[in-house]
Amino acid sequence: MSQSRHDINVLREQIATYGKSLFDRGLTMGSSGNISQRLEDGGWLMTPTNACLGRLDPARISRLDAQGVLIDGDAPTKEHFLHRAMYDERPQSGAIVHLHSTHSVAVSCLPDVNPCECIPPLTAYYVMRVGKLPLVPYYMPGDPALGDAVRGLAGKHCAVLLANHGPVVAGKTLEAAVYATEELEETAKLFLLLQGKNPRGMTPEQVAELEARFGRP
Ligand SMILES: [Zn+2]
Repeated sequence: MSQSRHDINVLREQIATYGKSLFDRGLTMGSSGNISQRLEDGGWLMTPTNACLGRLDPARISRLDAQGVLIDGDAPTKEHFLHRAMYDERPQSGAIVHLHSTHSVAVSCLPDVNPCECIPPLTAYYVMRVGKLPLVPYYMPGDPALGDAVRGLAGKHCAVLLANHGPVVAGKTLEAAVYATEELEETAKLFLLLQGKNPRGMTPEQVAELEARFGRP
């Protein structure tokens, strides 16, 4: 049985609450960034196009059916295809957050970033919530090839970093996706603070121990 209207309204409220929290802390600016939640009927809730995450009206959040057709609310974000690409490859993921958060975008612009692992494993919580973060090459906003590039990586990674653009992060729940996004942004900040300082990251053995104990995110 799929969710009741009441259950869906609770999810709409949650998206607005997390959106405001992210916006109020400067994790996203203007009308950038978008959030989505998978529904039990196979459809999604998505933040609308040109909406500010700090001032979302829960009733106007887009509801799409399993084919991606708008059935309620305003038109969805123009970046809806990024979300769809992640969901298609990650049946275990229930929600996705995409931001243009400053420190993560800064890392995505570094010339020598490792495309297989943009940020090294600096802390245990980063390893547990984000894991290995691959870089998706730059594409013009709205280019469907960007969706294909994300699709190619999403099966093995809960988060990807779009070059010169920002992170796309999936979680089992919206709360988990928000926490992982925050962990990524804070670790990006640490990584930038440590540039040129030859930091002592976690060893491959320490990372393997965490993965054996907690699994990969
Ligand atoms: Zn974007």
